[in-house]
Amino acid sequence: MRAWPGKVRRGAPAPTAFLDRDGVLNRDRAGVYVTSPEQLRLYSGAARAVALLAAKGYRVVVLTNQSAVARGYMTLAAARRINLRLVRELRRAGARVDAVYFCPHGPEDGCRCRKPEPGLIEEALKDSPADLARSFMAGDKKSDLELARRAGLRGVLVRTGQWRSAGAAAARGSYRDLLALARALPDLKKEGR
Ligand SMILES: [Mg+2]
Ligand SMILES: [Zn+2]
Repeated sequence: MRAWPGKVRRGAPAPTAFLDRDGVLNRDRAGVYVTSPEQLRLYSGAARAVALLAAKGYRVVVLTNQSAVARGYMTLAAARRINLRLVRELRRAGARVDAVYFCPHGPEDGCRCRKPEPGLIEEALKDSPADLARSFMAGDKKSDLELARRAGLRGVLVRTGQWRSAGAAAARGSYRDLLALARALPDLKKEGR
């Protein structure tokens, strides 16, 4: 489901940076859930990375699994507040996120939106289509890469958060962090001219 914004303005298919949240934009450790806005700790380069992605011509869309809701560690309202905090903190640092979607279910719920199931990206694409050939999904887990594969997108592992759990094969073609990836991407605004 969409955490933010309340309404998405539908545009032409755009190159889109689909980003996982925990372990990519903010600190994440295995078994430790972010269950309140105060626990959200952005990585130092996160805002610069998001700003650079936007400057290079990408929409920035966050897709995040938040099973802590299903597990009873936080309410749906808390999950929304945390995502709002993320958007606001990034904005305060000069970085704009276009939309945030999250799955509140657990592994046993059999929902269609828990990554690597494609529901979150389908919802995002329904709101506003992406130029899939020039889009990508960046994450720190195998499920992010698997989602990318299922959606027909380039998947990129960033070596932050829980990336070690993704295995050696997944680490091939990975980037040190989101900022390193953002720097390596082409400037689509220049290319388009
Ligand atoms: Mg993650
Ligand atoms: Zn779900």
